Amino acid sequence: MVILLRTTQELEAERSKDSTVGFVPTMGNLHQGHISLLECALSEYSTVYFSIFVNPKQFGPNEDFNRYPRTLEHDISLIEKAQSKFPNSKVVVYSPLDPKEVFPESSNQTISVLGLSTDLEGKIRPGHFDGVATVVYRLFKLTKPTTAYFGLKDYQQYLVIKKMVKDLNMPVKIQGMPIIRETDGLALSSLNQYLTPEQKEASLILSKTLKSLHNTISGKSENLAKAQKLIQDYLADKNWNYLEMRDSETFSRDISFSKNITILAVYQMGTTRLLDNMQVALSRPEV
Ligand code: AMP
Repeated sequence: MVILLRTTQELEAERSKDSTVGFVPTMGNLHQGHISLLECALSEYSTVYFSIFVNPKQFGPNEDFNRYPRTLEHDISLIEKAQSKFPNSKVVVYSPLDPKEVFPESSNQTISVLGLSTDLEGKIRPGHFDGVATVVYRLFKLTKPTTAYFGLKDYQQYLVIKKMVKDLNMPVKIQGMPIIRETDGLALSSLNQYLTPEQKEASLILSKTLKSLHNTISGKSENLAKAQKLIQDYLADKNWNYLEMRDSETFSRDISFSKNITILAVYQMGTTRLLDNMQVALSRPEV
């Protein structure tokens, strides 16, 4: 069963009927990346709440909130297909008709995860992660999930949410999910549809560069300097918004003692910013 709810009042009434639930927050225009989160949630919970909400708070003044693709009918058909693989399951889709359903006019609180929210992606998009944390906080309060599922594609976002939940002692488990890619390596994204066929082809530079850095490091900390040198060379191409190695847990630039690092990148393809990352587990020589 798939239920579509358009108001917060309906959501609260429905939620009072269920005990433990999984939750998948999205902005819609669904693809297999989103559906992989839903299918994992359905494999763990018989009731899954799934939000489709283009959150105005996470778009900057020069970012196109209005241009973001809204395809509710198509999204519901993908959700129904996934749900049908799990007999007796229930998916509650919350797609508010108006942003005021999520952010009543009387509410002007912002959740800010200090430090993490203004670093790297947050430096380029001021206020973005405050908008993300604030909407996720609000959606957690409404859906009261036991587990919430987030794609590791948005790695910094995943860390922001984990930190928010820890700092505010929220009773929800945050489950990070692997990046779903096309067979050629391009990470699935709602923004890929804006790419021309030529740009799509050229976008492979992103996953190929990450893969080549991953191969250069080959899981050995001794190779990090070589990878750093390669990064400097790659950055001669000014289309990189950034290409950096960070500690996967602390997000620190200092990776001298890291056991796991994440290589994070954004490549500018015309007007579209393509975001991707790759994890590398490191072994260190015995001392
Ligand atoms: P969005 O609708 O872009 O806000 O994404 C909603 C959720 O889907 C976030 O947790 C994303 O990280 C996740 N997601 C988006 N693309 C992918 C992908 N290619 N693989 C896995 N998860 C993804």
